[in-house]
Amino acid sequence: MFELTFLGTAASTPSAERGLPAVLVQAGGERFLIDCGEGTQRQLLRAGSGFRRLGHVLLTHAHLDHVLGLGGLIATLGLMDIRTPLRICGSGETMRFVAQYLASLYPLPRAPVPLDFIELQAGRVLAANGFTLRCFPVKHRGTESLGFRFETVPRARARRPSTKSLIRAIAARAPSNSRGPSATATPAIASASTNRQQVTKSAADRSLRRLRSNRLEGRSRLR
Ligand SMILES: [Zn+2]
Repeated sequence: MFELTFLGTAASTPSAERGLPAVLVQAGGERFLIDCGEGTQRQLLRAGSGFRRLGHVLLTHAHLDHVLGLGGLIATLGLMDIRTPLRICGSGETMRFVAQYLASLYPLPRAPVPLDFIELQAGRVLAANGFTLRCFPVKHRGTESLGFRFETVPRARARRPSTKSLIRAIAARAPSNSRGPSATATPAIASASTNRQQVTKSAADRSLRRLRSNRLEGRSRLR
């Protein structure tokens, strides 16, 4: 069962009643923030959700009303001394934009919290704790946009590993010298880096070079 909290449902500009886009999805003991418009922090507090156990941010696209809240959220996580990595996921276009945006805010040797940038390709990207997460391309004003679909897995087919352990397993299988998409494997998670990326100017440049479409996960594993 999933729990959805609509934190912001306005578009382009906020209104007195509606915040900029953000949805919190709780699935299998994990928490996913989908988009992070301005004001998302306050909406999380108003919803009683808080900031802890926020492991993943799934970005639909790179328009400012969907991503500008990230800078402040990362600063707050740092002030709360949260040291678990924040995984920021989206299309290649979105990841390139967000890495540059965050590098402009945090030109220090390290960001307030460890950041992982994960480039996604259409298809099934996660299978963990009784649910799967799939992303798919969406047409939206010429952007490389993604939609996200959470699905429950029948109990008999549910797998045990946590989302984190699955991502680690995927990262461990990533070829270190990958340079582009595989023509064979099907779904669908492309790791921006097998190592934790700190957002600095140079690290962002490195992460951008590493943002390749490595298809790392075979269909059989995800079933
Ligand atoms: Zn947009």
